[in-house]
Amino acid sequence: MPSTNNPAVAVHSSLSYAQPTNLSAWGTYLAQVDRVTPYLGPLARWAETLRRPKRTLIVDVPIELDNGDFAHFEGYRVQHNLARGPGKGGVRYHPDVTLEEVMALSAWMTIKNAAVNLPFGGAKGGIRLDPERLSKKELERVTRRYTSEIGVIIGPHQDIPAPDVNTDSQIMAWMMDTYSMNTGLASPGVVTGKPVHLSGSLGRVKATGRGVFVIGCEAMRRLNMPIGGARVAIQGFGNVGSTTAELFAKAGAMIVAAQDSGGAIFNAQGLPITELADHVQRHRTVGGFPGADSLDPEAFWDAPCDVLIPAALEGQITVARAERLRARLVLEGANGPTLPEADDILGSRGIVVVPDVICNSGGVTVSYFEWVQDFASYFWTEDEINQRLEKIVLDALEQIWRTSERRGVSLRTAAFVVACERILTAHEERGLYP
Ligand code: NAD
Repeated sequence: MPSTNNPAVAVHSSLSYAQPTNLSAWGTYLAQVDRVTPYLGPLARWAETLRRPKRTLIVDVPIELDNGDFAHFEGYRVQHNLARGPGKGGVRYHPDVTLEEVMALSAWMTIKNAAVNLPFGGAKGGIRLDPERLSKKELERVTRRYTSEIGVIIGPHQDIPAPDVNTDSQIMAWMMDTYSMNTGLASPGVVTGKPVHLSGSLGRVKATGRGVFVIGCEAMRRLNMPIGGARVAIQGFGNVGSTTAELFAKAGAMIVAAQDSGGAIFNAQGLPITELADHVQRHRTVGGFPGADSLDPEAFWDAPCDVLIPAALEGQITVARAERLRARLVLEGANGPTLPEADDILGSRGIVVVPDVICNSGGVTVSYFEWVQDFASYFWTEDEINQRLEKIVLDALEQIWRTSERRGVSLRTAAFVVACERILTAHEERGLYP
Protein backbone atom coordinates (compact mmCIF):
# COMPACT_ATOMS: atom_id res chain seq x y z
CA MET A 1 0.00 0.00 0.00
CA PRO A 2 1.57 3.38 -0.95
CA SER A 3 2.08 5.89 1.85
CA THR A 4 -0.80 8.36 2.22
CA ASN A 5 1.49 11.32 2.94
CA ASN A 6 2.66 11.20 -0.66
CA PRO A 7 0.73 14.12 -2.25
CA ALA A 8 0.47 12.32 -5.60
CA VAL A 9 -1.22 9.39 -3.90
CA ALA A 10 -3.58 11.71 -2.03
CA VAL A 11 -4.82 13.19 -5.33
CA HIS A 12 -4.99 9.72 -6.86
CA SER A 13 -7.07 8.37 -3.94
CA SER A 14 -9.57 11.21 -4.11
CA LEU A 15 -10.82 9.68 -7.35
CA SER A 16 -13.42 7.62 -5.55
CA TYR A 17 -16.55 8.27 -7.59
CA ALA A 18 -18.94 6.50 -5.29
CA GLN A 19 -18.83 4.10 -2.38
CA PRO A 20 -19.31 0.71 -3.98
CA THR A 21 -21.47 -1.64 -1.95
CA ASN A 22 -21.90 -5.39 -2.16
CA LEU A 23 -25.14 -4.83 -3.98
CA SER A 24 -24.08 -2.11 -6.42
CA ALA A 25 -23.12 -2.87 -10.00
CA TRP A 26 -19.72 -1.21 -9.56
CA GLY A 27 -19.18 -3.22 -6.35
CA THR A 28 -20.02 -6.39 -8.27
CA TYR A 29 -17.54 -5.51 -11.01
CA LEU A 30 -14.76 -4.73 -8.49
CA ALA A 31 -15.37 -8.06 -6.74
CA GLN A 32 -15.08 -9.81 -10.11
CA VAL A 33 -11.75 -8.07 -10.76
CA ASP A 34 -10.50 -9.11 -7.29
CA ARG A 35 -11.35 -12.71 -8.10
CA VAL A 36 -9.43 -12.76 -11.37
CA THR A 37 -6.29 -10.91 -10.25
CA PRO A 38 -4.57 -13.99 -8.68
CA TYR A 39 -4.74 -15.73 -12.09
CA LEU A 40 -3.00 -12.95 -14.03
CA GLY A 41 0.63 -13.71 -13.15
CA PRO A 42 3.05 -10.85 -13.93
CA LEU A 43 0.29 -8.94 -15.77
CA ALA A 44 -1.37 -8.38 -12.37
CA ARG A 45 0.92 -5.37 -11.86
CA TRP A 46 -1.27 -3.54 -14.40
CA ALA A 47 -4.58 -4.68 -12.83
CA GLU A 48 -5.24 -1.44 -10.92
CA THR A 49 -6.04 0.17 -14.27
CA LEU A 50 -9.12 -2.08 -14.52
CA ARG A 51 -10.46 -0.58 -11.29
CA ARG A 52 -10.37 2.98 -12.64
CA PRO A 53 -12.45 4.30 -15.53
CA LYS A 54 -10.20 6.15 -17.97
CA ARG A 55 -12.67 8.99 -18.53
CA THR A 56 -16.08 9.90 -17.05
CA LEU A 57 -18.27 12.70 -18.32
CA ILE A 58 -21.37 14.00 -16.52
CA VAL A 59 -23.57 16.31 -18.57
CA ASP A 60 -26.60 18.44 -17.89
CA VAL A 61 -29.27 17.82 -20.52
CA PRO A 62 -31.81 20.67 -20.47
CA ILE A 63 -34.82 20.58 -22.79
CA GLU A 64 -38.05 22.47 -23.32
CA LEU A 65 -41.03 20.21 -22.63
CA ASP A 66 -44.10 20.20 -24.89
CA ASN A 67 -45.98 22.34 -22.34
CA GLY A 68 -43.30 25.07 -22.46
CA ASP A 69 -41.64 24.21 -19.12
CA PHE A 70 -37.93 23.40 -18.90
CA ALA A 71 -36.60 20.12 -17.55
CA HIS A 72 -33.01 19.11 -16.72
CA PHE A 73 -31.76 15.53 -16.92
CA GLU A 74 -28.41 14.13 -15.84
CA GLY A 75 -26.52 12.23 -18.53
CA TYR A 76 -23.26 10.27 -18.50
CA ARG A 77 -20.70 8.80 -20.86
CA VAL A 78 -17.95 6.69 -19.34
CA GLN A 79 -14.97 5.36 -21.27
CA HIS A 80 -13.68 2.68 -18.96
CA ASN A 81 -10.71 1.47 -20.96
CA LEU A 82 -9.41 2.25 -24.47
CA ALA A 83 -6.27 0.11 -24.54
CA ARG A 84 -7.56 -2.23 -27.27
CA GLY A 85 -9.41 0.27 -29.46
CA PRO A 86 -12.13 2.93 -29.47
CA GLY A 87 -14.81 2.84 -26.79
CA LYS A 88 -17.91 0.78 -27.54
CA GLY A 89 -21.07 0.37 -25.52
CA GLY A 90 -24.74 1.27 -25.34
CA VAL A 91 -26.77 4.16 -23.99
CA ARG A 92 -29.42 3.48 -21.35
CA TYR A 93 -32.49 5.61 -20.56
CA HIS A 94 -33.86 4.66 -17.13
CA PRO A 95 -35.02 6.47 -13.97
CA ASP A 96 -32.41 4.60 -11.87
CA VAL A 97 -29.35 5.36 -14.02
CA THR A 98 -26.39 6.64 -11.95
CA LEU A 99 -22.77 7.39 -12.71
CA GLU A 100 -21.75 4.34 -10.72
CA GLU A 101 -24.03 2.06 -12.72
CA VAL A 102 -22.71 3.46 -16.00
CA MET A 103 -19.14 2.93 -14.75
CA ALA A 104 -19.92 -0.75 -14.11
CA LEU A 105 -21.65 -1.19 -17.46
CA SER A 106 -18.71 0.43 -19.27
CA ALA A 107 -16.25 -1.83 -17.42
CA TRP A 108 -18.24 -4.92 -18.41
CA MET A 109 -18.00 -3.69 -22.02
CA THR A 110 -14.20 -3.57 -21.70
CA ILE A 111 -14.21 -7.17 -20.48
CA LYS A 112 -16.80 -8.33 -23.03
CA ASN A 113 -15.06 -6.81 -26.05
CA ALA A 114 -11.79 -8.41 -24.98
CA ALA A 115 -13.37 -11.78 -24.09
CA VAL A 116 -14.85 -11.98 -27.61
CA ASN A 117 -11.67 -10.44 -29.07
CA LEU A 118 -13.30 -7.45 -30.77
CA PRO A 119 -10.93 -4.50 -31.40
CA PHE A 120 -12.71 -2.18 -28.97
CA GLY A 121 -12.30 -0.76 -25.51
CA GLY A 122 -15.28 -0.41 -23.19
CA ALA A 123 -17.68 2.51 -22.80
CA LYS A 124 -21.29 3.10 -21.79
CA GLY A 125 -23.71 6.00 -21.46
CA GLY A 126 -27.02 6.80 -19.92
CA ILE A 127 -29.53 9.43 -18.96
CA ARG A 128 -31.53 9.35 -15.74
CA LEU A 129 -35.07 9.69 -17.03
CA ASP A 130 -38.32 7.79 -17.34
CA PRO A 131 -39.03 7.48 -21.08
CA GLU A 132 -42.66 6.60 -20.34
CA ARG A 133 -43.17 10.17 -19.12
CA LEU A 134 -41.80 11.91 -22.22
CA SER A 135 -43.43 12.41 -25.60
CA LYS A 136 -41.61 11.30 -28.77
CA LYS A 137 -40.66 14.93 -29.50
CA GLU A 138 -39.31 15.39 -25.96
CA LEU A 139 -37.28 12.17 -26.27
CA GLU A 140 -35.86 13.46 -29.53
CA ARG A 141 -34.84 16.76 -27.89
CA VAL A 142 -33.22 14.93 -24.94
CA THR A 143 -31.35 12.61 -27.30
CA ARG A 144 -30.08 15.42 -29.53
CA ARG A 145 -28.95 17.60 -26.61
CA TYR A 146 -27.26 14.62 -24.89
CA THR A 147 -25.47 13.72 -28.15
CA SER A 148 -24.22 17.30 -28.51
CA GLU A 149 -23.01 17.34 -24.91
CA ILE A 150 -21.07 14.06 -25.20
CA GLY A 151 -20.02 14.98 -28.77
CA VAL A 152 -16.63 16.06 -27.41
CA ILE A 153 -15.65 12.47 -26.66
CA ILE A 154 -17.59 10.27 -29.11
CA GLY A 155 -16.84 9.61 -32.78
CA PRO A 156 -16.34 6.74 -35.22
CA HIS A 157 -12.68 6.40 -34.15
CA GLN A 158 -13.18 7.42 -30.51
CA ASP A 159 -16.27 5.95 -28.94
CA ILE A 160 -19.29 4.42 -30.65
CA PRO A 161 -22.62 4.28 -28.72
CA ALA A 162 -25.39 1.74 -29.40
CA PRO A 163 -28.84 0.82 -28.01
CA ASP A 164 -29.38 -0.52 -24.50
CA VAL A 165 -32.35 -0.51 -22.11
CA ASN A 166 -35.10 1.82 -23.45
CA THR A 167 -33.10 3.00 -26.46
CA ASP A 168 -33.55 1.72 -30.00
CA SER A 169 -32.77 2.32 -33.68
CA GLN A 170 -34.79 5.58 -33.72
CA ILE A 171 -32.69 7.00 -30.88
CA MET A 172 -29.54 5.92 -32.76
CA ALA A 173 -30.82 7.67 -35.93
CA TRP A 174 -31.24 10.92 -33.95
CA MET A 175 -27.77 10.51 -32.42
CA MET A 176 -26.19 9.89 -35.82
CA ASP A 177 -28.00 12.87 -37.35
CA THR A 178 -27.04 15.22 -34.49
CA TYR A 179 -23.39 14.20 -34.55
CA SER A 180 -23.30 14.52 -38.36
CA MET A 181 -24.92 17.98 -38.26
CA ASN A 182 -22.49 19.17 -35.57
CA THR A 183 -19.40 17.93 -37.39
CA GLY A 184 -20.58 18.75 -40.91
CA LEU A 185 -19.76 15.20 -42.02
CA ALA A 186 -22.05 12.26 -42.75
CA SER A 187 -20.89 9.97 -39.92
CA PRO A 188 -22.88 6.74 -39.91
CA GLY A 189 -20.04 5.01 -38.01
CA VAL A 190 -20.55 7.14 -34.89
CA VAL A 191 -23.28 4.83 -33.57
CA THR A 192 -24.42 1.28 -34.26
CA GLY A 193 -27.90 -0.20 -34.02
CA LYS A 194 -29.17 2.33 -36.62
CA PRO A 195 -32.13 1.62 -38.91
CA VAL A 196 -31.04 -0.63 -41.80
CA HIS A 197 -31.73 2.02 -44.50
CA LEU A 198 -29.54 4.49 -42.54
CA SER A 199 -26.39 2.36 -42.82
CA GLY A 200 -27.50 -0.01 -40.09
CA SER A 201 -26.75 -3.71 -40.28
CA LEU A 202 -29.14 -6.51 -41.08
CA GLY A 203 -29.51 -8.77 -38.06
CA ARG A 204 -28.53 -6.12 -35.47
CA VAL A 205 -31.93 -5.80 -33.77
CA LYS A 206 -32.06 -9.48 -32.90
CA ALA A 207 -28.30 -10.02 -32.53
CA THR A 208 -28.10 -10.04 -28.74
CA GLY A 209 -30.99 -12.47 -28.34
CA ARG A 210 -29.63 -14.61 -31.19
CA GLY A 211 -26.25 -14.74 -29.47
CA VAL A 212 -27.87 -15.79 -26.17
CA PHE A 213 -29.73 -18.53 -28.05
CA VAL A 214 -26.69 -19.79 -29.99
CA ILE A 215 -24.54 -19.84 -26.86
CA GLY A 216 -27.36 -21.36 -24.83
CA CYS A 217 -27.78 -24.22 -27.33
CA GLU A 218 -24.04 -24.95 -27.25
CA ALA A 219 -23.93 -24.86 -23.44
CA MET A 220 -26.91 -27.22 -23.32
CA ARG A 221 -25.20 -29.59 -25.76
CA ARG A 222 -22.10 -29.63 -23.54
CA LEU A 223 -24.26 -30.31 -20.47
CA ASN A 224 -26.32 -33.01 -22.21
CA MET A 225 -29.52 -31.02 -21.84
CA PRO A 226 -31.92 -31.55 -24.78
CA ILE A 227 -33.50 -28.37 -26.13
CA GLY A 228 -36.75 -30.02 -27.18
CA GLY A 229 -39.11 -29.74 -24.21
CA ALA A 230 -36.59 -27.83 -22.04
CA ARG A 231 -38.38 -25.47 -19.63
CA VAL A 232 -37.12 -21.88 -19.88
CA ALA A 233 -37.88 -18.93 -17.57
CA ILE A 234 -37.07 -15.42 -18.79
CA GLN A 235 -36.85 -12.17 -16.85
CA GLY A 236 -37.26 -9.16 -19.16
CA PHE A 237 -39.29 -9.29 -22.35
CA GLY A 238 -37.70 -6.38 -24.20
CA ASN A 239 -35.27 -6.59 -27.09
CA VAL A 240 -33.06 -9.31 -25.60
CA GLY A 241 -35.65 -11.33 -23.69
CA SER A 242 -38.28 -11.47 -26.43
CA THR A 243 -35.84 -12.49 -29.18
CA THR A 244 -34.26 -15.16 -27.00
CA ALA A 245 -37.71 -16.47 -26.07
CA GLU A 246 -38.81 -16.56 -29.71
CA LEU A 247 -35.70 -18.50 -30.83
CA PHE A 248 -35.84 -21.01 -27.97
CA ALA A 249 -39.55 -21.59 -28.57
CA LYS A 250 -38.92 -22.14 -32.30
CA ALA A 251 -36.23 -24.70 -31.40
CA GLY A 252 -38.77 -26.69 -29.35
CA ALA A 253 -38.15 -25.38 -25.81
CA MET A 254 -41.09 -24.30 -23.63
CA ILE A 255 -41.00 -20.77 -22.22
CA VAL A 256 -42.82 -21.51 -18.97
CA ALA A 257 -42.34 -18.24 -17.05
CA ALA A 258 -41.73 -14.60 -17.86
CA GLN A 259 -41.36 -11.54 -15.67
CA ASP A 260 -40.84 -7.86 -16.44
CA SER A 261 -41.31 -4.50 -14.78
CA GLY A 262 -45.11 -4.83 -15.06
CA GLY A 263 -45.72 -8.38 -13.79
CA ALA A 264 -44.91 -12.08 -13.92
CA ILE A 265 -46.69 -15.01 -15.62
CA PHE A 266 -46.46 -18.81 -15.67
CA ASN A 267 -47.76 -21.57 -17.93
CA ALA A 268 -46.44 -25.10 -17.37
CA GLN A 269 -47.42 -26.04 -20.96
CA GLY A 270 -45.33 -23.21 -22.44
CA LEU A 271 -46.34 -19.63 -23.22
CA PRO A 272 -47.48 -18.99 -26.81
CA ILE A 273 -44.66 -16.62 -27.72
CA THR A 274 -46.18 -14.89 -30.77
CA GLU A 275 -49.35 -14.02 -28.83
CA LEU A 276 -47.27 -12.92 -25.84
CA ALA A 277 -45.15 -10.66 -28.06
CA ASP A 278 -48.37 -9.07 -29.45
CA HIS A 279 -49.63 -8.57 -25.88
CA VAL A 280 -46.34 -6.89 -24.86
CA GLN A 281 -46.48 -4.68 -27.95
CA ARG A 282 -49.93 -3.45 -26.89
CA HIS A 283 -49.54 -3.29 -23.09
CA ARG A 284 -45.75 -2.86 -22.69
CA THR A 285 -45.65 -5.71 -20.15
CA VAL A 286 -46.16 -9.46 -19.93
CA GLY A 287 -48.47 -8.78 -16.97
CA GLY A 288 -52.13 -9.54 -17.61
CA PHE A 289 -51.42 -11.93 -20.51
CA PRO A 290 -54.58 -14.06 -20.79
CA GLY A 291 -52.77 -17.27 -21.87
CA ALA A 292 -51.06 -17.77 -18.49
CA ASP A 293 -51.48 -17.65 -14.72
CA SER A 294 -50.24 -14.48 -13.16
CA LEU A 295 -47.48 -14.85 -10.57
CA ASP A 296 -46.29 -12.69 -7.75
CA PRO A 297 -43.10 -11.15 -9.25
CA GLU A 298 -40.96 -12.69 -6.46
CA ALA A 299 -42.45 -16.17 -7.13
CA PHE A 300 -40.88 -16.00 -10.61
CA TRP A 301 -37.59 -17.07 -8.99
CA ASP A 302 -39.21 -20.29 -7.69
CA ALA A 303 -40.63 -21.32 -11.08
CA PRO A 304 -39.68 -24.91 -11.99
CA CYS A 305 -37.42 -24.63 -15.04
CA ASP A 306 -34.26 -26.05 -16.60
CA VAL A 307 -32.86 -22.79 -17.96
CA LEU A 308 -33.14 -19.34 -16.42
CA ILE A 309 -32.44 -16.29 -18.56
CA PRO A 310 -32.17 -12.96 -16.73
CA ALA A 311 -32.59 -10.36 -19.51
CA ALA A 312 -33.60 -7.21 -17.61
CA LEU A 313 -31.31 -5.35 -15.22
CA GLU A 314 -28.25 -5.96 -13.05
CA GLY A 315 -28.30 -7.27 -9.46
CA GLN A 316 -31.35 -9.50 -9.93
CA ILE A 317 -29.93 -12.85 -8.75
CA THR A 318 -29.38 -12.16 -5.07
CA VAL A 319 -28.19 -14.66 -2.46
CA ALA A 320 -31.77 -15.42 -1.42
CA ARG A 321 -32.88 -16.02 -4.99
CA ALA A 322 -29.78 -18.07 -5.84
CA GLU A 323 -30.66 -20.43 -2.98
CA ARG A 324 -34.13 -20.99 -4.44
CA LEU A 325 -33.52 -21.16 -8.20
CA ARG A 326 -34.56 -24.44 -9.76
CA ALA A 327 -32.69 -24.14 -13.06
CA ARG A 328 -29.61 -26.18 -14.03
CA LEU A 329 -28.29 -23.49 -16.36
CA VAL A 330 -28.34 -19.69 -16.17
CA LEU A 331 -27.80 -17.74 -19.39
CA GLU A 332 -27.03 -14.11 -18.56
CA GLY A 333 -28.75 -12.04 -21.25
CA ALA A 334 -28.63 -8.94 -19.03
CA ASN A 335 -25.43 -7.25 -17.94
CA GLY A 336 -24.42 -7.95 -14.35
CA PRO A 337 -27.58 -9.82 -13.25
CA THR A 338 -25.80 -11.99 -10.63
CA LEU A 339 -24.28 -10.66 -7.40
CA PRO A 340 -20.86 -12.14 -6.50
CA GLU A 341 -22.07 -14.01 -3.38
CA ALA A 342 -25.01 -15.37 -5.35
CA ASP A 343 -22.55 -16.56 -7.99
CA ASP A 344 -20.79 -18.64 -5.32
CA ILE A 345 -24.08 -20.18 -4.23
CA LEU A 346 -25.01 -21.10 -7.79
CA GLY A 347 -21.54 -22.66 -8.20
CA SER A 348 -21.86 -24.67 -5.00
CA ARG A 349 -25.29 -25.89 -6.12
CA GLY A 350 -23.82 -27.10 -9.43
CA ILE A 351 -25.81 -24.58 -11.47
CA VAL A 352 -23.78 -23.54 -14.52
CA VAL A 353 -23.76 -19.81 -15.29
CA VAL A 354 -22.77 -18.60 -18.75
CA PRO A 355 -21.66 -15.07 -17.85
CA ASP A 356 -22.98 -11.89 -19.46
CA VAL A 357 -19.63 -10.95 -20.98
CA ILE A 358 -19.89 -13.97 -23.28
CA CYS A 359 -23.59 -14.76 -23.26
CA ASN A 360 -24.90 -11.39 -24.49
CA SER A 361 -21.92 -10.55 -26.70
CA GLY A 362 -23.92 -11.16 -29.91
CA GLY A 363 -25.14 -7.54 -29.83
CA VAL A 364 -21.74 -5.90 -29.74
CA THR A 365 -20.44 -8.45 -32.24
CA VAL A 366 -22.99 -7.38 -34.84
CA SER A 367 -22.38 -3.75 -33.81
CA TYR A 368 -18.76 -4.41 -34.77
CA PHE A 369 -19.95 -5.75 -38.14
CA GLU A 370 -22.11 -2.63 -38.60
CA TRP A 371 -19.13 -0.37 -37.86
CA VAL A 372 -16.93 -2.29 -40.32
CA GLN A 373 -19.65 -2.15 -43.01
CA ASP A 374 -20.10 1.60 -42.46
CA PHE A 375 -16.39 2.23 -43.07
CA ALA A 376 -16.44 0.05 -46.18
CA SER A 377 -19.86 1.37 -47.33
CA TYR A 378 -20.52 -2.21 -48.37
CA PHE A 379 -23.20 -4.27 -46.69
CA TRP A 380 -23.45 -7.99 -46.04
CA THR A 381 -26.51 -10.23 -46.24
CA GLU A 382 -28.36 -11.30 -43.10
CA ASP A 383 -27.11 -14.87 -43.59
CA GLU A 384 -23.51 -13.65 -43.70
CA ILE A 385 -24.08 -11.62 -40.53
CA ASN A 386 -25.68 -14.52 -38.64
CA GLN A 387 -22.98 -17.00 -39.73
CA ARG A 388 -20.15 -14.67 -38.69
CA LEU A 389 -21.94 -13.90 -35.40
CA GLU A 390 -22.28 -17.59 -34.65
CA LYS A 391 -18.61 -18.29 -35.40
CA ILE A 392 -17.30 -15.44 -33.22
CA VAL A 393 -19.45 -16.19 -30.16
CA LEU A 394 -18.96 -19.96 -30.35
CA ASP A 395 -15.17 -19.62 -30.73
CA ALA A 396 -15.19 -17.35 -27.67
CA LEU A 397 -17.32 -19.81 -25.68
CA GLU A 398 -15.01 -22.69 -26.64
CA GLN A 399 -11.93 -20.82 -25.44
CA ILE A 400 -13.58 -19.82 -22.18
CA TRP A 401 -14.95 -23.30 -21.52
CA ARG A 402 -11.45 -24.74 -22.05
CA THR A 403 -9.89 -22.13 -19.76
CA SER A 404 -12.50 -22.89 -17.11
CA GLU A 405 -11.68 -26.62 -17.22
CA ARG A 406 -7.92 -26.12 -17.35
CA ARG A 407 -7.85 -23.67 -14.43
CA GLY A 408 -10.68 -25.23 -12.44
CA VAL A 409 -12.60 -21.95 -12.25
CA SER A 410 -16.12 -20.81 -13.12
CA LEU A 411 -16.94 -19.72 -16.66
CA ARG A 412 -17.13 -16.13 -15.37
CA THR A 413 -13.63 -16.18 -13.90
CA ALA A 414 -12.37 -17.90 -17.06
CA ALA A 415 -13.93 -15.19 -19.24
CA PHE A 416 -12.31 -12.52 -17.05
CA VAL A 417 -8.94 -14.31 -17.22
CA VAL A 418 -9.01 -14.44 -21.03
CA ALA A 419 -10.23 -10.84 -21.30
CA CYS A 420 -7.91 -9.34 -18.68
CA GLU A 421 -4.88 -11.05 -20.20
CA ARG A 422 -5.71 -9.39 -23.54
CA ILE A 423 -6.40 -5.96 -22.02
CA LEU A 424 -3.37 -5.91 -19.75
CA THR A 425 -1.07 -7.25 -22.48
CA ALA A 426 -2.24 -4.32 -24.61
CA HIS A 427 -1.39 -1.98 -21.72
CA GLU A 428 2.03 -3.51 -21.32
CA GLU A 429 2.78 -3.33 -25.04
CA ARG A 430 1.59 0.28 -25.31
CA GLY A 431 3.44 1.23 -22.12
CA LEU A 432 2.57 3.99 -19.71
CA TYR A 433 2.55 7.44 -21.30
CA PRO A 434 4.60 9.53 -20.65
P1 NAD B 1 -35.29 -3.33 -23.20
O1 NAD B 1 -35.50 -1.95 -22.74
O2 NAD B 1 -35.66 -3.69 -24.59
O3 NAD B 1 -36.03 -4.35 -22.20
C1 NAD B 1 -35.81 -4.33 -20.82
C2 NAD B 1 -36.75 -5.32 -20.16
O4 NAD B 1 -36.45 -5.38 -18.76
C3 NAD B 1 -38.22 -4.94 -20.26
O5 NAD B 1 -38.99 -6.11 -20.46
C4 NAD B 1 -38.52 -4.35 -18.88
O6 NAD B 1 -39.89 -4.46 -18.51
C5 NAD B 1 -37.64 -5.23 -18.01
N1 NAD B 1 -37.36 -4.60 -16.72
C6 NAD B 1 -36.91 -3.35 -16.47
N2 NAD B 1 -36.82 -3.14 -15.16
C7 NAD B 1 -37.20 -4.30 -14.56
C8 NAD B 1 -37.31 -4.72 -13.21
N3 NAD B 1 -37.02 -3.91 -12.20
N4 NAD B 1 -37.74 -6.00 -12.97
C9 NAD B 1 -38.04 -6.83 -13.99
N5 NAD B 1 -37.95 -6.48 -15.27
C10 NAD B 1 -37.53 -5.23 -15.56
O7 NAD B 1 -33.73 -3.65 -22.91
P2 NAD B 1 -32.81 -4.73 -23.61
O8 NAD B 1 -32.06 -4.07 -24.70
O9 NAD B 1 -33.59 -5.97 -23.86
O10 NAD B 1 -31.73 -4.99 -22.44
C11 NAD B 1 -31.96 -5.93 -21.40
C12 NAD B 1 -30.63 -6.29 -20.76
O11 NAD B 1 -29.75 -6.81 -21.76
C13 NAD B 1 -29.88 -5.13 -20.12
O12 NAD B 1 -29.14 -5.60 -19.01
C14 NAD B 1 -28.91 -4.72 -21.21
O13 NAD B 1 -27.77 -4.04 -20.70
C15 NAD B 1 -28.54 -6.07 -21.76
N6 NAD B 1 -27.99 -6.04 -23.11
C16 NAD B 1 -28.68 -5.49 -24.14
C17 NAD B 1 -28.11 -5.49 -25.42
C18 NAD B 1 -28.85 -4.96 -26.63
O14 NAD B 1 -28.34 -5.13 -27.74
N7 NAD B 1 -30.01 -4.37 -26.49
C19 NAD B 1 -26.83 -6.04 -25.62
C20 NAD B 1 -26.18 -6.63 -24.55
C21 NAD B 1 -26.77 -6.62 -23.29
